[in-house]
Amino acid sequence: MAKCDEGYLCSVCGGDVENITQSDLYLRFVIGMVDPELLHAQPEKHIRCNPTLAQFIVAEDFEPVIVDDDFAKSKLDPEHVKEREDLVSRGWARLKEIPSLGEVSILEFPLPEAIEKMKSRES
Ligand SMILES: [Zn+2]
Repeated sequence: MAKCDEGYLCSVCGGDVENITQSDLYLRFVIGMVDPELLHAQPEKHIRCNPTLAQFIVAEDFEPVIVDDDFAKSKLDPEHVKEREDLVSRGWARLKEIPSLGEVSILEFPLPEAIEKMKSRES
């Protein structure tokens, strides 16, 4: 396997993260949790291999992820959970759009508010 292929293996289960719509790293990037300059320095994971975040994806085409430890959303503040679900679900929808965007800069992947956040950090 070519050297550049390394880093696309899930750091949790060791399986291939075959495309961007399975990528926890890119999901966190589009919702503004990962700085673009850190994107390639962080370990890749499947979305479902990071249940603490994946539990907030509420979508018809996403089989719900259930967490039963202290980070379970059933144990969190409902207001916080609602905000989280809104953000992460929109991030997931955005992630699915990315393969059809064509040749756009990676800096245009994130949600509008995440891009705003990135810009305000730069200045
Ligand atoms: Zn995995």
